Amino acid sequence: MTVHYGHHDEPAVRLQGLTRVYPADGAPVRALAGVDAVFHRGTFTAVMGPSGSGKSTLLQAAAGLDRPTAGCVWIGGTELSRLSETKLTELRRGRVGFVFQAFNLIGALTVEENILLPLRLTGARPDRAWLDRVIDRVGLGDRLRHRPSALSGGQQQRVAIARALASRPEVIFCDEPTGALDSTTATEVLGLLRGVVDEHRQTVVMVTHDPVAASYADRVIVLADGRIVRDMPQPGADAIAEHLAALGRRTLRTEGVAR
Ligand code: ADP
Ligand code: MG
Repeated sequence: MTVHYGHHDEPAVRLQGLTRVYPADGAPVRALAGVDAVFHRGTFTAVMGPSGSGKSTLLQAAAGLDRPTAGCVWIGGTELSRLSETKLTELRRGRVGFVFQAFNLIGALTVEENILLPLRLTGARPDRAWLDRVIDRVGLGDRLRHRPSALSGGQQQRVAIARALASRPEVIFCDEPTGALDSTTATEVLGLLRGVVDEHRQTVVMVTHDPVAASYADRVIVLADGRIVRDMPQPGADAIAEHLAALGRRTLRTEGVAR
């Protein structure tokens, strides 16, 4: 029997020495080079960094979508490397939510069926009161019988967020959730994520390229070459943009010298 909820102050997610090496014909690619991080409950963290710095790899390992080469991931009190494939699948469906840039909704299902899919797959009984709150929160009450193709991009991403929230997960991971949206729709989606953290004490970890999107978070961590190179509590959008620009200049210089 796995204990899902530990002490009240137990972090939602903990990463220790997280390392991921992708095998390759030439030199293997070290996408994560020993990442340590703690994400507390009820917080909103943005993960930034240049393209190829390991952001998606970090999120996928933390969410149990990918097995790291070395190191540990805890979701609450559960250490993922000790889980069988079956238990890991259960954890992915029930205890974490994932939102992708490309929405990844199923076109043949209605909005409501898409939202309920992860619960259907686990056979869990839906918590109707929670689902009603989630559907109300994302503002899709009058779209439940529509197919995703009848919705705008912003509405489709709101469905994906509702789907991620349906099981009342301990943490929601979002990989560039606003990357495919125009800025007005992006603002709406970011406000929604901020709201689920503030009002429902959810934990959100979001990859983004956009300093304005990152400024919705409580904290910004910056990756470079598979390592955390900066951890900033509540920086404004201007400070984030300046840090990223400095990082870009340094990366260019290093590449100029080393390669
Ligand atoms: P980011 O999301 O920050 O752009 P990724 O985590 O996608 O970065 O990638 C980090 C590094 O790992 C990159 O060098 C990328 O090319 C490599 N990589 C990512 N996924 C794979 C894969 N499935 N196979 C081989 N290399 C990969
Ligand atoms: Mg990525």
